[in-house]
Amino acid sequence: MSKVYFVKASAKDSLETIHNKIYSLYLQAGFDNIFSLEDLIAIKIHFGEKGNTTHIPANYFNKVINQLIKKGTKPFFTDTCVLYKSNRSDAVNHLLLADKHGFAIEKTGAPVIIADGLRGSNEIEVEIKGELFDKVSIATEAVSANGMIVASHITGHIACGVGGAIKNLGMGLASRKGKLRQHSSVKPWIDVAKCTGCGECIYWCPENAIFMNGDIGAINEKICVGCGECLTVCHFGAVQYNWKTSSSDLQKRMAEHALGAIMNKKDKVCYFNFLINITADCDCFDIVQKPVIKDIGIIASNDPVAIDKASIDLIEQHGGKSLANLSYPSLDPMIQLRHGEKIGLGKLDYELINISK
Ligand code: SF4
Ligand code: SF4
Repeated sequence: MSKVYFVKASAKDSLETIHNKIYSLYLQAGFDNIFSLEDLIAIKIHFGEKGNTTHIPANYFNKVINQLIKKGTKPFFTDTCVLYKSNRSDAVNHLLLADKHGFAIEKTGAPVIIADGLRGSNEIEVEIKGELFDKVSIATEAVSANGMIVASHITGHIACGVGGAIKNLGMGLASRKGKLRQHSSVKPWIDVAKCTGCGECIYWCPENAIFMNGDIGAINEKICVGCGECLTVCHFGAVQYNWKTSSSDLQKRMAEHALGAIMNKKDKVCYFNFLINITADCDCFDIVQKPVIKDIGIIASNDPVAIDKASIDLIEQHGGKSLANLSYPSLDPMIQLRHGEKIGLGKLDYELINISK
């Protein structure tokens, strides 16, 4: 049975109170003992899409970061580029947005490094013993880091019911190719009505799979490896993609990518889930969202399956309804949790240890 540590908390708590609560969890859960001198520690977090106000605030980890630096480790914040057109689809815009949301070294004590490079293609193929994959594409710097702190804002999610630790690892640390593999098993194609024939995608395609068919681009499906480079470089939204992988397929693929993201450092990963400002949609939405339930607290564990299960249970206990019911009732977030347990990502059984005073 995995241990999950809980402390009551609210977005209305003072910053000092939040610092002390996160630090208490860090100590009680034994996280201070898992990192060693000189370790490069990735703090995986979502910086929040432009306009999002409910993401985890940049300065919540200041006290933990101070301690990590005192211990001689090297913490840094990280995330990866997204697949769709957004302020987070390349590293430059992503860094500028992170800075705007307070993730500046002078405010947090840690630099920001985008884990999958300028355009999301820096990746390492990690071997796993999954059911669907025997290797998954993970952002290079996530694999290179010696340890990881996975900070997840619990929200509803349009594709997997609940956005938590498994989503943060699996989708959040996959390279663009890894993300595409989760979303779809088919290759992209070019919408002739939108294509201007600019040729940008031809220049960037690593496989030379794109050619001019008259005045417009076309993809040779036999050569295309589904890396998604063309999706990012097309300025006209002409590269189309089938996002409609059934949600249960996506959830299982996500759990397998989550396993790949921690494969080489399982004993050096710790998780914090924030049950604060819980919204129906995730922090990728560029709108101000209202919480669907009162703030509950912060939990910590060394098990991504257990911490997500505890998050789901705590919301149901406090809100009288599941988070799926409060957001996307047709989705079952237990799919990624059960699959995670099946492939050795973690355990569903947990003991909740309340450290609230
Ligand atoms: S980059 Fe976009 S608009 Fe340009 S050729 Fe490729 S698909 Fe067409
Ligand atoms: S997905 Fe990658 S390999 Fe396929 S056409 Fe686009 S850039 Fe080329």
